[in-house]
Amino acid sequence: MTSPKNAPSPVAAPAVTATTTRPARRPAQVKPATEGWKQATGPEGRPLLQFKSPRVSQPPTHLADLTLPEREAKFKELGLPAFRAKQLSVHYFQHFTTDPERMSDLPKERRAEMVDTMFPKLLTEVKRLTTDNGDTIKFLWRLFDGSLVESVLMRYPGRVTLCVSSQCGCGMNCPFCATGQAGLTRNMSTAEILDQIVQANRVIAEGGLGNLRRDGGHDAERVTNIVFMGMGEPLANYKRVMNAVHRMVAEAPEGLGMSARGITVSTVGLVPAINKLAQEGVAVTFALSLHAPDDELRDDLIPVNDKWKVDDALDAAYNYYKVTGRRVSIEYALIKDMNDHPWRAELLAKKLNQRGRGWVHVNPIPLNPTPGSIWTSSEPHVMQEFIDTLIEHGIPTTLRDTRGKEIDGACGQLAAAE
Ligand code: SAH
Repeated sequence: MTSPKNAPSPVAAPAVTATTTRPARRPAQVKPATEGWKQATGPEGRPLLQFKSPRVSQPPTHLADLTLPEREAKFKELGLPAFRAKQLSVHYFQHFTTDPERMSDLPKERRAEMVDTMFPKLLTEVKRLTTDNGDTIKFLWRLFDGSLVESVLMRYPGRVTLCVSSQCGCGMNCPFCATGQAGLTRNMSTAEILDQIVQANRVIAEGGLGNLRRDGGHDAERVTNIVFMGMGEPLANYKRVMNAVHRMVAEAPEGLGMSARGITVSTVGLVPAINKLAQEGVAVTFALSLHAPDDELRDDLIPVNDKWKVDDALDAAYNYYKVTGRRVSIEYALIKDMNDHPWRAELLAKKLNQRGRGWVHVNPIPLNPTPGSIWTSSEPHVMQEFIDTLIEHGIPTTLRDTRGKEIDGACGQLAAAE
């Protein structure tokens, strides 16, 4: 496969300049291309973008799809007192259970009925992979229609992070990402998104991440941080994702009572949705998957760049900071000889500093190659140079860890293999 555009490299000019000023230790510019699979293209021969999901079916309504007043209304319809909805919510969001046997505060004769109506089975565990040291667990779930999604649970000192999926597949078609290769199947429901957290909390409560601090394990009893960095583009499933976020931060028994700043919404850069997110009144942490500071390269790396350019996406990220006061993250997967050139670090720093100071930090991450990929992660010294350049220009920069490499790290790999 050649690159989607099949055109002479538009990045040749700056890259050539770069090679003449640096030792000839590596090629000037590797162009994005796929190998072993074909990137779907749209009418104009550009990579296909899917904003509408081909499949519209959703799982049956679950308690977590509803606000507390909606749950109470539903119970009234069933001829049940409203306070039963609250009790059921406590079981789900605080005890992480849907097992009628454990709901002794509910009348025995209607317990099964209540559970059946409010808790249709959403996620069935297909596979669970745990790292040797037990600090990372990757789950593969099957949904009601057979779709497969992943979530990853990670224990750190002082926090437990869950990486959640928001769509079955993804329509953004980024050539380096395992999820994008099969395209979008459908949006996940609000409850399917939330159930990933409740299931993870149950696993933690059952000792899945080891004991609490006493034995040197973790010191959080449940998931404290959420990153929307699993399968899917969260802002392409805006309404359901936002409902899920509202339920994450809602106090018990309406929701999980989590802190908004511990929730990170990551996007390829859907500008109108970013601006909408800024107005939501929930100050989640915002992350932009930039991966290139120049449109020439980003057009190929992040196909949605056809619609919203680097500067549009950065303006929207800056606006998010202005409106919410929350510092935003720029994600940057470092890919060998593709986007890791010092001139790109300089250009990135320049574009960020042009907009202001102290509003952003950069999170480079070594590329996690998908199976059969011709793409590789940057050399350690190249990554370091990239980071140092940003820091020299006053941009706080921290290399993100690649958790769970040994368990099919790159998200979407597990589902793809199945
Ligand atoms: N669609 C959203 C969230 C899902 S991906 C987004 O793009 O932001 C979460 C992050 O993982 C994104 O920054 C994405 O670019 C990155 N990513 C995808 N595949 C990767 C890979 N093979 N190696 C490293 N990072 C990858």
